[in-house]
Amino acid sequence: MAQLIDGKLVSAQIKDELKAEVAELKEKGIVPCLAVIQVGNNPASSVYVNNKKKACAYIGIDSLSYELEESISQEELLNLVEVLNQNPKVNGILVQLPLPKHINEEAVIHAIAPEKDVDGFHPQTVGNMCIGSKGFLPCTPAGVIQLLKRSNIEIEGKECVVVGRSNIVGKPMAILLLRENGTVTITHSRTKDLKEVTKRADILVAAIGKPKFITSEYVKEGAVVIDVGIHRNENNKLCGDVDFDDVAGKVSAITPVPGGVGPMTIAMLMNNCVETVR
Ligand code: NDP
Repeated sequence: MAQLIDGKLVSAQIKDELKAEVAELKEKGIVPCLAVIQVGNNPASSVYVNNKKKACAYIGIDSLSYELEESISQEELLNLVEVLNQNPKVNGILVQLPLPKHINEEAVIHAIAPEKDVDGFHPQTVGNMCIGSKGFLPCTPAGVIQLLKRSNIEIEGKECVVVGRSNIVGKPMAILLLRENGTVTITHSRTKDLKEVTKRADILVAAIGKPKFITSEYVKEGAVVIDVGIHRNENNKLCGDVDFDDVAGKVSAITPVPGGVGPMTIAMLMNNCVETVR
């Protein structure tokens, strides 16, 4: 039976470590503060935002909440970001994505001061990650690396295949695996013979956005499979990009959905918030 990589457990460990660190910082009068901006009331975004605020409260990070009308103009949103950029009490700024269609996400991401960019999406932050300089790491891919490390799964020298090349998951995932000395291949919707490529993987990361896409035909016997996908199936139950039941019997380790990568994303966001004051 495959090892179940327990993101709930690992994320709880990380949050407890951060809680202890924040308690020590508090004794020196330092309290990190995260500003969270939500535009509109997309139900999924509301769940994510609430979970982030709860995690802040648990760890001892102050959080400021800005719930803006769906109809807010891009200019008004950019003005708020600028006010928060200038506010010395605010250490981190998070704008929950996706934004309504009339707002250019790229313009908003670019407006966040890089030293407060706890989501890790600003081009300067991405550049630092690519060249291996100090800086925030994007939360979901950084969470995957922590999951692997804390589950004693070695990355160095391994064939790592990432399915998906988005700016928030696939691309940074590949860079971080490379930083850990994996031999990395990135695949996407134009990849020829996807199965042939994914079957080479010692570590396969699925970030495709298609429910249960990765079946046992895509994986090598004994591989480690990380499922980044989050979907609701026809019964409103959560599932991932990997067909867990089909794949679990063939691999050496696998993340479940829920309880795998999902909780790690928030833990790593909290780590970035604490990083602002380290
Ligand atoms: P995107 O839709 O932005 O990207 C999907 C990627 O998958 C694209 O690069 C696309 O290729 C590729 N792709 C699509 N179809 C195929 C195919 N048939 N064969 C090979 N590649 C394919 O998704 P995200 O990266 O934003 O998210 C991926 C998944 O992760 C989603 O399920 C999302 O909900 C989840 N997610 C989970 C998070 C968490 O905290 N656990 C956080 C963020 C996302 P191309 O570029 O060619 O179109």
